[in-house]
Parts: sequence; structure tokens; C-alpha cells
Amino acid sequence: MKAFSTFAVPLRVPDSLSPLLELATNLRWSWDDRAQDLFRGLDPEAWDARRDPLDLLRRLGPDRLERLATDNGFLTHVGDVHAELQRHLEADLWFQGRKSELHSVAYFSPEFGIAESVPQYSGGLGVLAGDHLKSSSGLGLPLIGVGLFYKRGYFRQELAVDGWQRERYNELDADLIGLTRCEGVVVEVDTGDGPMRAQVWRAQVGRIPLFMLDTDIDGNDDATRSVTDELYGGDTEHRLRQEILLGMGGVRALEILGESPNVFHTNEGHAGFLGLERIRRRILDDGLSFPEAIEAVRAGTVFTTHTPVPAGIDRFPRELMERHFKGWADDCNVPFDELMALGHNPGEPPGAPFNMAVMGMRLAAASNGVSRLHGEVSRRMFAGLWPGIPAVEVPIGSITNGVHAHSWVSPEMRSLLNRHVGADWAREDADRWSRIDDAGDAELWDARNLARSRMVAFVRRRLGLRDTLDPGVLTIGFARRFATYKRATLLLSQPDRLAELLLSADRPVQLVFAGKAHPADDAGKAMIRDVVSLASRRDLRHRMVFVPDYDIGVARALCQGSDLWLNTPLRPMEASGTSGMKAAFNGALNCSVLDGWWAECYDGRNGWAIPSASGADDVESAGDPHNGHSRDEFEASALFDLLEREIVPLFYDRRDSASPPAGWLNRVRASLRSLGWFVPASRMVRDYASELYEPAAARNGMMTGSDYDAARSLAAWKAKLRTEWHGIRIDSVQSQPATPQLGETCTVAVSVNLGGLEPEDVTVELLHGSAGDSSELLAPAVEPMVLADGVWRASWAPETSGRQGFTVRVVPSHPHLPSFGELGLVTWAES
Ligand SMILES: *Cc1c(COP(=O)(O)O)cnc(C)c1O
Repeated sequence: MKAFSTFAVPLRVPDSLSPLLELATNLRWSWDDRAQDLFRGLDPEAWDARRDPLDLLRRLGPDRLERLATDNGFLTHVGDVHAELQRHLEADLWFQGRKSELHSVAYFSPEFGIAESVPQYSGGLGVLAGDHLKSSSGLGLPLIGVGLFYKRGYFRQELAVDGWQRERYNELDADLIGLTRCEGVVVEVDTGDGPMRAQVWRAQVGRIPLFMLDTDIDGNDDATRSVTDELYGGDTEHRLRQEILLGMGGVRALEILGESPNVFHTNEGHAGFLGLERIRRRILDDGLSFPEAIEAVRAGTVFTTHTPVPAGIDRFPRELMERHFKGWADDCNVPFDELMALGHNPGEPPGAPFNMAVMGMRLAAASNGVSRLHGEVSRRMFAGLWPGIPAVEVPIGSITNGVHAHSWVSPEMRSLLNRHVGADWAREDADRWSRIDDAGDAELWDARNLARSRMVAFVRRRLGLRDTLDPGVLTIGFARRFATYKRATLLLSQPDRLAELLLSADRPVQLVFAGKAHPADDAGKAMIRDVVSLASRRDLRHRMVFVPDYDIGVARALCQGSDLWLNTPLRPMEASGTSGMKAAFNGALNCSVLDGWWAECYDGRNGWAIPSASGADDVESAGDPHNGHSRDEFEASALFDLLEREIVPLFYDRRDSASPPAGWLNRVRASLRSLGWFVPASRMVRDYASELYEPAAARNGMMTGSDYDAARSLAAWKAKLRTEWHGIRIDSVQSQPATPQLGETCTVAVSVNLGGLEPEDVTVELLHGSAGDSSELLAPAVEPMVLADGVWRASWAPETSGRQGFTVRVVPSHPHLPSFGELGLVTWAES
């Protein structure tokens, strides 16, 4: 029967247990093994089934809690674990040792994946955001998370008997999952439907607060109350309302909460409206013009793009934008076309939908992709925003993703790493990680076997099957979103070959799949159905399973227990990928297409690269179904070859059945040694802090100080450059000698007519080095030329023989310009 009414009754504990309640509420428990052991000790079964400390305490019931409240042994134990939490909250950590202008970073993201008990994430983007918060806590970085609270979270996956995915939504009570209401805080945002109000919840992630806006409050009409119903649910307009709330409401919430971040990080385009809200404040509160406000705001903004797939970017049609942003445009006295221009992708016709990634980049002084390869692909993909700038100089950098080590590592591997690399292994450098070579075969193999057995037990429990999988068999894990470009069914394309691998009498293999398809993605759902259907074949089902409802808990079990972590995206469509990093910490070996993070981390010894079909490097050909088909065939065969000839034989190469596979474990050590220092999120967050946040804080100080003088003058200077740039002429270029020999110094002299500009507005640059077949300079050196007596001069000398060349260009120069390319203005010498 259905309840007439339901409500949350918060947990109350006796006073002496309040430290226990704090341990259950601060999400640091999710990476603190002592806190986890404490909870597991209270009810191992409930803990292993749900891993939710508050739920566990509620289930204990008042009587048990009363007894615990007077159990001195227990209270001492709680006191110890709580003292450690307290120390973490107060300690001087990495950031406290830095001299930095960074006051705090507001990190905006549509989803945060911290623990399976707080289901406010769909996949990789959210888990990355959660790991970012956790590592920020570990480094003492002053970061504030800003997101939405989705009452129904993301869908839970169920399978119909035919293997077709069904979506089910559970209603969540924010209080019951450990969020605290920010009393008295109500944020109001105007939209085309009138005012939208939201309350704010706070989650505590170690030292880091995460604020989540929630429109489900009295006073909102039903439509508005449902704005924060589901993550990525609803139609385009629903998504737009959510993004308005996240971006604009998030900025207002911070203000009401008294937070004053000097850096804003827009994690993917969804959060991009934070820039518009801050621009409105500069215009209304400080009297800046629109261009001046843009300079004032973007100086302290960092934008991260997460997808090389154009379809993955949010785009909103003009009618919708007009409906919801007319108020903004009126407030700011900005013509609507100018607002639309902020989100206009130059490759598209004038009335094209408003592109959130394009606005994100225009409103951030620093943008980045999430792996080196993704940086390259993004520079090509967004090159149109900076016309005339060579792709390598497009101002989009990259910081490769990482994972929060302590959230993902198995207990066995943790103690092994503690022993050999040191207690601080998640933050040690490459040199220190080389000590992993001292780990012996026996202990490494024991850790692997234990984790594999635990995963088998986990899968059996989940599926309610007692005899599926085998704890001694080479286990391949494949868990990720079932998007078609990830090609989960690549191995299924040659079913006979696959069956032979799985059913080998002496060297069997087993496959564990998990993953959700987007509710609207029928092609992805068909892939799940195909996997499920093969896995239910009578002869294969003990060697192949699909684990439903992929979440952080499933990811942890699979990454810890798999021997081989498989990744088969169509290169270059995987921006980074992170699950393989989680697996690497656990002594699994990666076998992946050279895409995302693996493209820069594979070194020939630390795992395997699945060969890609040639010409496989541009996004267009990856999406072409015809080309895609032959590529699939080629790459599937290459993968089978690898498995049959190298991977399976190596795993089963043992002196006798009781001894560990020495060759395999050599690779595991090579993997840990080469990846261990690089893949932790602490490396990633330190890179963000030093390469992006701190420079952004410095720029922000510069641009907002002295009543925005610098922002005003930069805006005026940019306007001048845009009008005057076309007047620049490179009149002559002379080289002495004209054809220098190896090592011979050559002076280049250039005269430039700057039209309406002054010499200090520009830099004239000499580019020189090796040239290719069609005279293009390959990775040239770039040197500023010096102006004397009306002539710009610089010297160089060919450093190698072969075809050499040089050219000259004029680029904008201003002390407050983060990169010369951002105006998209450049004049090249023409021969
Ligand atoms: C790590 C993780 C992901 C991201 O993995 P990819 O390798 O990027 O596909 C997605 N979902 C969950 C639950 C994860 O833990």
C-alpha cells in the first residue's frame, strides 16, 4: 500500500555518540579505512550491502545505540577515529605551505559522485568532480563545491527479462543521506517563468563544503519544484532551467552564504551561466560596460571541457534563450544579439543554437581539456573561436584527469603500497614509486587473488547466483557508460573466437560487464541487451556476466578485482577515461585503444595498446558509420590477437599451478611504477592549483582592483585592436644571409606599418626551424623581434641540416593578456 504522506525523521543519537554521528555525516568516511572498519564492525552485513553509515546507524535502532553510548571500549575507539578526522580538518597541508593569492575556488558542476550513498551523479564527470573535492580536502586547497540536489538522483538500472534496460527512480530525502539544510538561505533566480526559488543543502567532504540547490520548496509552483527532480532528466528547456539554477543560482547562493571565492571553475558547459550572473553584478553594482564586465569576470574563471564529441555539448535554441534571458539582457542593457554572440560557434550559421562550451571558453581566461590528446583534439575542435591562430597555439591547455586513490584502492593493495612505497604513496613522486620493484611475486599475487575473490563474491551476491565466475580465472573488466562510441560489444562481434577464449580448458577467461545507457539511447540499450543475451547462453554464463546498476560501489568492486581492464573507444572520442586509473592502483593491467589518458601513459611495458585502424584520428571519421564499421572489424581482430597471443598466455605462464605468474607480475610492477605517481587526483588537483587557479587568482586581483581600472583599460584596448588590426602591413622581410648554413647566424630585419596601432600594442615574432614537404614549419621556435630605428630584428641559426625555414608575424601584446591568441588576431608575412 502507498503511504498517504511520507517524511524524513532524522537520526538522533545519545550525546556521547555525537562524534560517531559526525563520522557518519562527514563524507570523509568514504576514503577513511578506519572509519569504514568502525561502521563495518557494527553490522558487517548491512555495511557490505549498502555502505551507508547513516542508514546503518538507523538500522541499529535506539536500544543498540543506547547500549553503545555507555560502552567505554567502543567510545574510546570512536574517539580515536574522530580525533583523526579532527586533525585532518585542522591540519596545515600542502596548500598552507604555499604563498598564494588564492582565497578560494568555487567549483561548479552539474553532478558530484562522492559515495554510492549520495546518488547525485551519472558517471565519469560526477565521479571526477567528487574525486576533485576529496583530493582538495587532502591538499588543504580552499575549494567550495556548487551543484544541485536532485530529489530523484540519476536512474537506477534494472533489466527486463529480454535484457532491455529499464529506468527506475528512487525518491531521496536530503536529511537522510547526510545533507544539512542551510537554515534561512533561499536563493531566487529570475527565469522566463517568473522567479524560481531554491533552498540550499550542504554536504561536507572532509574539509570541503559542497552546496546543493534544491527547488522543491513551498512557495514554488509545481513546475518550478520539479526543476531539480532528476539529473539529466526532462527536455531541453528543463535542462536549461537546471543550468540557470546551477550557474546563476549558485553564484547567488555563495553570496548569501558569505563565501567570496576569487576563482570560479566551470566544470563543463552545463555550469556556464555562472559567468552571466557575475557579469550582471559587475554591470549593475559597479557600472561596468558589458565588455568591461566580461574582462573583470573572465580573468578569474577557469573552464574545463570534457567531451570531444560535439553532440555531447549543450546547445539551446534562440527562442528558449530569449524566453529565459530577456530579463538578464534588459537588466544589463545588452542587446540580445550580443548575448547570443557569446555562445555562437563560428563554424555555424547566424541563428544557430547557443553553445555552452563556446560561451564557457569565451568567459574564461583559461580553458583546458582533460588529457594531452583531448587538449589537442579540443584545440582543433574549437579552433574557429580563434581564427588565424595555428591549432597548436589555440589557447586551450590540458590537465590529465586523476582518481582519488584512497577511494578506489583495495585494502590488500593499500597495505602493499604502504609497505613498499610508503604511507603517503598517493602523493609520492616517480622516484619513490620505483620502490614498488621490491614487492615480491608472492605478496603481489596474494593481493590480486584476494581482490579477485572478493569481486567474485560481490558479483554472486549482486546477481543472486552461487556458482557464476571463478576466483582463479583471468578476469577482464569492462564497466563504463554504454555509449556507442565506447563499443562495449567489440568482443561480441566474433562470438566463436570469444567462446573459445572463455571456455578454454587450461587457460580460461571470464568477462564482467557493467554500465548504464542514457535513457534516450536505444543503440546503447541494444548493446546492453546483446551482452546480457550472450551472457545468458547456457554454455557461457559461468564465464560472462553483466552486473546491473553500475555505480561507485560496482566500479570499486570491478576495478579492484579485475586482472585486465579493457577500454575500446573509437579514438579520439574518449576525453580521458578514469576507470582504468582506478584499476591500475589495484594491480590490474590496462588493455586499451590509445585514447584519452592511456595515449600519454602507455609505455610499451605497463599494459597493452589495442592497435587503431589508420587514419583513425579525427572526430569526423570516427563518427562515420561506414568507416566506423571497417574500423570495428580491424580493431576487434587486433584485440583478439592480443588476447590470444600475449595476454592469456602470459597470465597462465606459471612454473606450476601453485606459483604466481612471474611475467604477468613484472608487468603489474611496471604498471604501478609508471602510473602510480601520475594517476592520483592529488597530482591533478595540484596541477589545477598551480597552473590554473593561482594564475587566475592573480589575474582576478589585477582586473578587479582599483575599481576595475585594468578591466576597463583591457576592454578599451581590445576594442581598439579589433578596429585597427586590419591596418597592419608587413612591408618587407630581409634575411642576411638569405640562405644560412648549418650553425651560421642569420639576421632577419622586418619593417611593419602598424596603421593606427603603436609598437607597444604588438609583438613582432620570428618563427624558425625545420620545414616539411609543403614548406610548413614543423614545431618552430618563436622569438620576439626587437625594434630599433624603425626596423624589427632578430637572429637565428639553423640547428640541423635539411629543409629549414623561417617566417614573421605580428601578434597583439598587452601585459594583461593571458595568451596572444585570445583575440584571434594575427598578421603573417606573405611571400
Ligand atoms: C570511474 C567511473 C566512471 C568513469 O569511467 P570511464 O573510464 O571514464 O568510463 C563512470 N562511472 C562510475 C560509477 C565510475 O566510478
